[in-house]
Amino acid sequence: MISFVVFGASGDLAAKKTFPALFQLFKKKAIERDQFRIIGFARSNLSNADFENIISMHSGEEQGSTVLKSFRQHSEYFRGNYSDKASFEKLNEKLKSYEEQDKSVLRIFYLAVPPSVFFDVCSNIHKTTYLPNNRTRIIVEKPFGMDYDSADMIMNLPIMRFMNPGIDAMFNHEHVESVEIFMKESGTCEGREGYFNSNGVVRDVLQNHLMQLFSAVAMDPPRSADASDIRNAKVKLLQAAKPFRREDTLFGQYVKSADGSKKGYLDLKGIPEDSNTATFVASTLYVDNERWKGVPFVFVTGKALNENDVHVSLHLRPKDMPYQSKGNQSRLVTFSIQPKEYVAFDCLIKRPTMAGGLHTAELKIDYDKDLEDVYQKYDAYEALFYDAIKGNPTRFVRSDEVEAGWRIVNNILDPKEPCEKYTFGSAGPKQLREYLHKYLYLET
Ligand code: NDP
Repeated sequence: MISFVVFGASGDLAAKKTFPALFQLFKKKAIERDQFRIIGFARSNLSNADFENIISMHSGEEQGSTVLKSFRQHSEYFRGNYSDKASFEKLNEKLKSYEEQDKSVLRIFYLAVPPSVFFDVCSNIHKTTYLPNNRTRIIVEKPFGMDYDSADMIMNLPIMRFMNPGIDAMFNHEHVESVEIFMKESGTCEGREGYFNSNGVVRDVLQNHLMQLFSAVAMDPPRSADASDIRNAKVKLLQAAKPFRREDTLFGQYVKSADGSKKGYLDLKGIPEDSNTATFVASTLYVDNERWKGVPFVFVTGKALNENDVHVSLHLRPKDMPYQSKGNQSRLVTFSIQPKEYVAFDCLIKRPTMAGGLHTAELKIDYDKDLEDVYQKYDAYEALFYDAIKGNPTRFVRSDEVEAGWRIVNNILDPKEPCEKYTFGSAGPKQLREYLHKYLYLET
């Protein structure tokens, strides 16, 4: 029997992501239906009809469909308080009532609640509902905004590198002059102002999402594809990375849009008028190992920018080539994650003219276009829950990985000087251009 308990079942994340992903696993029979119970736990006084509405709201299924009806029958609402041990004791009784006949029992607790509640929930799980011998799993939803749609491409990056020796041969200081790791968001932090204002963009995005991208692009080959070997390779890289330095960091905070129709950060509800929380950061680190010595890794992320764009690009070193002068070559390799998933190699080819000359073309693998008819794509939450049920930890961050990530960002968690201002919907602070030229060694 697998019991999947969703804390915060009345909330936004549960309705939009958690229940729809569980429904898809149920519908696809990726889990044995008779052996599966979902319990939505929250404080709100919800009727059965309210809860049914929540679990079906974003299912994408006709309300009358048989499978949705069956899913509802496997789900129930449990009203309780996160800090109240008695609520968890009652929950435990409920779980036991389903497990009675069963020898193989797994309890998965998913925390779709604000971080302020994590401690109470985990401590009560420990006291009341915890089963030893790997029969209890707790999933903590990260307190930040990017969804998991990009997970596929991020997992693909090491595969492209390590399964294609010709590609990985480029991934070192001999061939790479600089690396850019960007996550630009057009969205803001509206709706989670309180959380964001006390955390800022470094904790929200740089410490986690961009560190994952950095690991994927820069780690050494793992000994095997086992989750523990992959995590070891990531941790080794993160430990070799030199922490970001304040002097290499540009902080920004957005102000209202040029036409005044979009609010600036300080105009948002609940944000103190003197808040210096950064909504934008650019920073650069170096890695103290043989592969990457001297290569700057330039990280840029921000809210309320002119586009949604998540990518990693390698800027290859200019070399003397027989057909064209140094510095005037195609030398960009891009792994794009959002809005489109693709890998593109800038490539110089001969112009098909009598006079000849060179033409810059792209060698491109387009994930969406080339593979969409071949494979059914999965939602990343589905994959995450599936892995949690199967006990595959690859998609989950190990504690030493988290610690190594914090060590890298620790110097730059919050700006000390006033942030540079940038306009809502712009490319970021005006200083960014100069910053990128300096750290990525771009030609002017
Ligand atoms: P909500 O604010 O909707 O909170 C979820 C539920 O938690 C609420 O319905 C409420 O349930 C309970 N709750 C809210 N505030 C408190 C509080 N101060 N003390 C105790 N219980 C509280 O959050 P989301 O669903 O948006 O997000 C949940 C978590 O997931 C957060 O950590 C968030 O940062 C993260 N997250 C959210 C995403 C999203 O798309 N929404 C995306 C990625 C991460 P009740 O009162 O009924 O107990």
